[in-house]
Amino acid sequence: MSSTEQPSAPTNFIRNRIRQEVAEGRYQRVITRFPPEPNGYLHIGHAKSIVLNFAMAEEFAGYTNLRFDDTNPEREEQRYIDAIREDVAWLGYRWENECYASDYFETLYEYALHLIDQGLAYVDSQDAETIRIQRGTLTEPGTDSPFRARSGEENRDLYERMRAGEFPDGAHVLRARIDMASPNINLRDPVIYRIRHQAHPRTGDAWCIYPSYDFAHGQSDAIEHITHSLCTLEFEDHRPLYDWLVEHLPVPSRPHQIEFARLNIDFTVLSKRRLTRLVEEGHVDGWDDPRMPTLAGLRRRGFTPESIRNFCTEIGVTKSESVIPFGVLERNLRDDLNVRAPRRMAVLRPLKVVLTNFPEGEVEWLEAANHPQDPGQGNRQVPISREIWIEQDDFLEQAPRKFFRLKPGGEVRLRNAFIIRCDEVIKDAAGNVVELRCSFDPESRSGQPGADRKVKGTIHWVSAEHGVKAEVRLYDRLFRVPNPSADKEVDFVDHINPDSLETLNEAWLEPGLEKAAPDDFCQFERLGYFVPDPASRPDQPIFNRAVTLRDTWARLEQALKSG
Ligand code: ATP
Ligand code: MG
Repeated sequence: MSSTEQPSAPTNFIRNRIRQEVAEGRYQRVITRFPPEPNGYLHIGHAKSIVLNFAMAEEFAGYTNLRFDDTNPEREEQRYIDAIREDVAWLGYRWENECYASDYFETLYEYALHLIDQGLAYVDSQDAETIRIQRGTLTEPGTDSPFRARSGEENRDLYERMRAGEFPDGAHVLRARIDMASPNINLRDPVIYRIRHQAHPRTGDAWCIYPSYDFAHGQSDAIEHITHSLCTLEFEDHRPLYDWLVEHLPVPSRPHQIEFARLNIDFTVLSKRRLTRLVEEGHVDGWDDPRMPTLAGLRRRGFTPESIRNFCTEIGVTKSESVIPFGVLERNLRDDLNVRAPRRMAVLRPLKVVLTNFPEGEVEWLEAANHPQDPGQGNRQVPISREIWIEQDDFLEQAPRKFFRLKPGGEVRLRNAFIIRCDEVIKDAAGNVVELRCSFDPESRSGQPGADRKVKGTIHWVSAEHGVKAEVRLYDRLFRVPNPSADKEVDFVDHINPDSLETLNEAWLEPGLEKAAPDDFCQFERLGYFVPDPASRPDQPIFNRAVTLRDTWARLEQALKSG
């Protein structure tokens, strides 16, 4: 057992294997990499890979590289590189080296020449469709290309001229010469270089041939002396090719690929292709829309790096596919914020209450604990005046017996203040309740003889004179169905939940909240955990709800509904 083992982290097959290898003296230290392709933002699935890679390297005395797998210039952009760097750093990780597969283009080109000179690669001048058909199927072997027998000199000459830009896209490809009859289609002479006259975000116009993912990935691992190349299960069938290339090339080290199951979460999609569509077709407000499963979206929603790391540790690493409920992610956030988030008061759907026996024009400052379970967070002063806001659904005119909030003639305690009684209900012409007239019990204030007088319910409130008007955004699942991409006949965007965003324009916050910074998360008592949106301004505050509370009201409401 390693001395750096973290007892809290559940073990997994990768960790067990590495521990065994280290014990046998095969490795002094473990070097891993996180290899995103910069063609989109990182999502929560990537977080699973990031946490695993950094945890293994840290536990076994090594380090992790951030490697941009930028071999396909078509959809890769600098802004994605910037966003990925920001997200990995935000999660709390420091990579040892920042690497780019494109930095190895010259070396990879030399490696391809090496294969040609060994008779292990050839230039095929057929079109992509013909090559695809000739590779056969799972039940039928492939057929040799007529160019498979090209001479070494001819291959070298053509390949050099491919690089020199003499040919248009698709005129030739370079293929590894392995085994057209292999039961593994990946070994049936895979294409390792394509002609593509396309500028690259980093190498510009220097190249018009680009290596395939399979050719670039393992060799990049070897160049960086990666010991364990951790990837998702869909690459399991590629491992023989990964190994074949590493064995047949003069690479400086011998990495090993290990596959694990990718993360799936219900009511969302975790494929960059689908996430890109959501953004490009305007179904969401950009990559960082708080409903997106991207790290940027979760951050804007109010998720903390700790909650995401804890989630990734909790779900563990296995070789079998599973779907994790979104609620598991939310529970990790709740558990984190419950401990840390200061408590504040805000009213989302306001109903005016006039305290008839509170002197007009007067203000009383009340002492309120920032966190009832954590005295270390101190107290603040909250003002109250004759007119206050309460939540519309904290009042019911025809209230059932178990409704412990405000009803005509009933009493309730105002959080951090005193007990009020509802004396009169004011309605408009249409019969809607527009105002309550209540009297307060001065004896029930903190420090007064009736401070401990018990009433069944406690509700939150905001002083109308002091409250800060704000926009509050409430989020629900982005999709209406657990697996939006399950049915191939239905476009996944048709499953988007039309009610996934609810915007409340007339919320009232206790004063001071308008000055909160983007990562100043807090609990709005009884309503959930909230964080200011990056667009929030002191004169126009905007708050996002990160997650609801699992509070007694929810359960009570359930009980009321079920009679
Ligand atoms: P997508 O399939 O959404 O396009 P990708 O795998 O192409 O994602 P990459 O940028 O290539 O995206 O991924 C970088 C790393 O993150 C890879 O090692 C990949 O295996 C891992 N990864 C991607 N999605 C998940 C996921 N859902 N769960 C775990 N790891 C993932
Ligand atoms: Mg990929």
